[in-house]
Amino acid sequence: MPEGDTIHRAARRLAGVLDGRRLTRLEAPRLSRPMPPAGTGVVSAEARGKHLLIHFDDGHVLHTHMRMNGSWHTYAAGARWQRSPRRMRVVLADEEVQAVCFDAPVVELLDEPALDRHPALRALGPDLVVDDDAVEVGLQRMVALGTADRLAVEVLLDQRIVAGIGNVYANEVTFLSGVNPSTPLSAIAVGERQSMLADAQRLLRANLATTARTTVPGPRGGLWVYDRAGRPCRRCGTTLVGAAIGDGARPTTWCPTCQPPADA
Ligand SMILES: [Zn+2]
Repeated sequence: MPEGDTIHRAARRLAGVLDGRRLTRLEAPRLSRPMPPAGTGVVSAEARGKHLLIHFDDGHVLHTHMRMNGSWHTYAAGARWQRSPRRMRVVLADEEVQAVCFDAPVVELLDEPALDRHPALRALGPDLVVDDDAVEVGLQRMVALGTADRLAVEVLLDQRIVAGIGNVYANEVTFLSGVNPSTPLSAIAVGERQSMLADAQRLLRANLATTARTTVPGPRGGLWVYDRAGRPCRRCGTTLVGAAIGDGARPTTWCPTCQPPADA
């Protein structure tokens, strides 16, 4: 699943392939407005949290969000795509390269004022990957946004507090801090909030350079709890438990021993 590290990696790859190119093909078949014409140049590609922005030299910005299944691929011109053309949502290409976005549920063409007004982008908290003060600011935003009654996993996934955490890291950092994912924020000490955000920042940054996401130190790597329900805890051996938790009913896995309920 794309989390902040995946999107930053995609943005860097797209920037490396597209920056400075004058495109001969710009297509987004589901857009209600026309794409910029052939001859338009790419100024830059950037990630903001889990949002991906490609800036064109005519002032337009292509905004994509991958949600669960979207992805950007880059290919040499003429190379065969690794997904069905039916799943294509965007093609940006010239005579040498092609960048193709598949399955993204959000594809929008914005001008700069619309970008500045964009509700989801405007509301974003600091980006854990790039903003060094994201942990500190995120702690303040937890309070400012009145999230005391919300559950640990909901707060971690709320991109208005900090941007970049997806379901994988929400599971992993609650485990690392010994916080049960169903604990309301009000029952989580500031030190634990801080350590969850700091772990998320450290892990997102550590996984920028790799495609095999890992949170467990050592040569074997892997993940502590995410998607491991029914298997033994890597720390204590207790069978991990899984359930759909919180607003989004996101699949969540935890260790009942390492992450006991707050009132236990
Ligand atoms: Zn355990």
